[in-house]
Amino acid sequence: MYRTPGYLDAAGRGIECPTCHTVYFLEGDKNWDRMYHRLGEDGKRHWMLLCICGEQVSFQKYDVALYGTRSTALKLGYAVEGQ
Ligand SMILES: [Zn+2]
Repeated sequence: MYRTPGYLDAAGRGIECPTCHTVYFLEGDKNWDRMYHRLGEDGKRHWMLLCICGEQVSFQKYDVALYGTRSTALKLGYAVEGQ
């Protein structure tokens, strides 16, 4: 993901896999079957993302960041590194 002006034509809120750096966007319903949440012992909601690389990424709502990307990747639901 690069924040180069002119290169990117869209942005979306998403979660990045720390292993393969694929970003999954929360907009739309493309990734709903990859994400699920459960209530932890601390009473807080814990989110899990199952990445295409097999990594299970645990994240919190505040880990969601705005990523610059291309509209085609946003439509697809995720962007691999560099898109
Ligand atoms: Zn991954």
